[in-house]
Amino acid sequence: MTVERPAPKGLLGELPASEGLRDQFGRVATDLRLSLTDKCNLRCSYCMPAEGLEWLSRQAVLTADEIIRLVGIGVDRLGIRELRLTGGEPLVRADVVEIVAGLRAAHPDLPIALTTNAVGLTAKAAPLKAAGLTRINISLDTLHPGTFAQLTRRPFFDRVLAGIEAADRAGLGPIKINAVLMRGINDGDGAELLAWCLERGYELRFIEQMPLDADHGWTREGMVTASEIRERLDERFLLSPDPRARDGAPAERFEVRDRDAAAGEAPLGPPLGTVGIIASVTEPFCADCKRTRVTAEGKVMSCLFSREEVDLRGLLRGGADDDEIAARWQDAMWLKPRAHGMGHVGLGAPDFVQPDRSMSAIGG
Ligand code: SAM
Ligand code: SF4
Repeated sequence: MTVERPAPKGLLGELPASEGLRDQFGRVATDLRLSLTDKCNLRCSYCMPAEGLEWLSRQAVLTADEIIRLVGIGVDRLGIRELRLTGGEPLVRADVVEIVAGLRAAHPDLPIALTTNAVGLTAKAAPLKAAGLTRINISLDTLHPGTFAQLTRRPFFDRVLAGIEAADRAGLGPIKINAVLMRGINDGDGAELLAWCLERGYELRFIEQMPLDADHGWTREGMVTASEIRERLDERFLLSPDPRARDGAPAERFEVRDRDAAAGEAPLGPPLGTVGIIASVTEPFCADCKRTRVTAEGKVMSCLFSREEVDLRGLLRGGADDDEIAARWQDAMWLKPRAHGMGHVGLGAPDFVQPDRSMSAIGG
């Protein structure tokens, strides 16, 4: 697809590549989310269908060398300052450790993070650390094996716990845990999950469920909201705003204290830890968004909800030079929508259309 660059003279058309990934609304993307694969060994109901998703062919997916070249263009020419490897499940890719090592060799100072379901982490945690991975985020929505199996449609709870412990042992901490709460399934599990994370020094972040499930079952009325999550946590913990600056981060962070222990304490003692709540739907942070996304097959998506995709794989394989690839990436980001508008779905705003791609096929 060719994107007409709509910038008037003097804006993008004349910007040198060093001006980075700027959009029409003045935002500049510096945080790259790159998907290593669309495949996964779980089937979380808020993400993938139970069956029937078509996989990309092996030839369609970017090779390790293509990934390393693309990240190089992003970092050296377009101002990318942070990288997160994701999927699908990035650890199902056999060459994930080599990819991290190649990226680290090319960019000694780049923060490289990885988001994983931890099913395959026991064997890979130490090699990933040795290859130069900076940080890890692990998804865990419940501490109950039966609920885990219901949510993910796979019986791998024990493997996930073992993977988390392996990451901790390998020195990939401080570990961040991501949790999505689903009404009627694990919406009562938040406080227990928080207590478990606090005991181990893991930082828990709840993510509001977004309409990116392959089954299109999401409803605005049915989702568990950030304010509901706070209310439920409040029954057991005392949450107070984290005094550290939010600095455009998607998660609103709170200091956590035991409610009973803190009763009557003035001033309050030190917190047990912190918790983050990412209210992508009800309190969107689009105005501060710094993200650019590249799918496993090399398409730039300026937003999770963007309906425009710009193909870089064709350029990579067609002999384009780095300048040309950088310019197309800039084109894609120029068209980043101002906001996603999903908070209004079902509340009267008809303009939001759920993307065809599910979260696993974009890269969360
Ligand atoms: N497979 C890895 C994992 O689960 O951590 C990485 C990819 S996954 C798409 C990245 C993150 O997106 C996970 O933390 C997952 O919980 C989250 N996610 C997936 N579908 C979502 C949805 N519909 N709404 C909000 N978060 C979602
Ligand atoms: Fe797989 Fe992650 Fe999607 Fe769950 S959220 S199905 S683990 S890609």
